[in-house]
Amino acid sequence: MCQNNLMEYKDCLNKLKNSKFRNSFHLKNKDFAYIERVGMEKIESHAYDFVNARLAPKIIPNDGKQTPMRGHPVFIAQHATATCCRGCLWKWWKIPQNKDLSPDEIEFVVGLILEWIKSECERFNQSQNA
Ligand SMILES: [Zn+2]
Repeated sequence: MCQNNLMEYKDCLNKLKNSKFRNSFHLKNKDFAYIERVGMEKIESHAYDFVNARLAPKIIPNDGKQTPMRGHPVFIAQHATATCCRGCLWKWWKIPQNKDLSPDEIEFVVGLILEWIKSECERFNQSQNA
């Protein structure tokens, strides 16, 4: 599992790039406009809310289906970073199922989501300046 530092997140993001499915998720103009409007701090607090409510509990009756495919940049980021459900968290990041997520694990998941969103924003800014 990736540790909670920037270098390791870069490794995680590179690993995800090798997956055609994960790499098919990208933010759109309306997402960038939304992020710009509310700010990254708000996005981070939403990410904590979603992860705490939908991923952290030991038992999730609809695991695999709890993350919508649209509606919030964090949802898109979760699919892109394989943090959409406990099944994917185990398969990709070796975070065990059938237990509550630890504070460290929650921090890792939120951190990875935010790094992916930041990398999308960089991609968007570069395309604007090109
Ligand atoms: Zn999943």
